[in-house]
Amino acid sequence: MAGPFAALRLSCQDALQQRRAAGRSRCPRCGASRMFYCYSCHVLVQDLDPQRVPRVKLPLKVDIIKHPNETDGKSTAVHAKILAPDDVTIYTYPSIPEFYKPDKVLLVFPRPGSLTLEKLMEKQRCARLGLPPIESSDHSREEHAAKRMKCLHGSQPIPGEKKVAGVAPFERAVFIDCTWNQTNKIILDERLQGLQCVELRKHETHFWRRQKGKPSTYLATIEALYYFLEEYEQLVLARPPTGSYDDLLFFYSYMYGLVHSAKADKLYHD
Ligand SMILES: [Zn+2]
Repeated sequence: MAGPFAALRLSCQDALQQRRAAGRSRCPRCGASRMFYCYSCHVLVQDLDPQRVPRVKLPLKVDIIKHPNETDGKSTAVHAKILAPDDVTIYTYPSIPEFYKPDKVLLVFPRPGSLTLEKLMEKQRCARLGLPPIESSDHSREEHAAKRMKCLHGSQPIPGEKKVAGVAPFERAVFIDCTWNQTNKIILDERLQGLQCVELRKHETHFWRRQKGKPSTYLATIEALYYFLEEYEQLVLARPPTGSYDDLLFFYSYMYGLVHSAKADKLYHD
């Protein structure tokens, strides 16, 4: 596969190719005519063998809160549910999950007070070491900064640091799936206040349904989940990237290819 997904370790997409060549199939639950999966019931169509669609295991549970007005067919949240069914739950607002341990939850959304995962991990480590927070503006800031850098990047164990090896620092990540004009109502919901917000580093979207007037860094939900997990693996789990989550883009990359080859065809024939 060429294009932006060329470097991904994706499962074979022949089943999608064959499915598409055969024309639409049906949803085994509601009977609707669909191509690959039913976006209302979050299941594969009856003529797509589940054995030929990858299953992805995620390092934490993922809740996706969907705006009720968001058109199901345009949402990529369902990709996550189908590809990682054991770990992903989709809620339709105003239904939202109960957060029993809010300090173990990350809300992946850029708002005032949100941090990149890198900054968040640094902040948490500083707190464990009893070092001043990053924002500190005391006189010995430079000295502290130097000490902090030494601690953060040194290979020696740090006296007094409580080891938390084996304990996952976070258990859930929450995403909001709707157009950016609809997010305000959800993000201001009091049940989501007090959760730590994280923002992703800048990634460009490849979504073919770009929202008018929005910057290219506004990601489709499946892209946001994918990039979040990549950063999470590297920065929180401290593992080198393994491509374990690449298959989350199984449908997305295929559809991207279709849309772009259709555009190319059109240009060629016009
Ligand atoms: Zn259905």
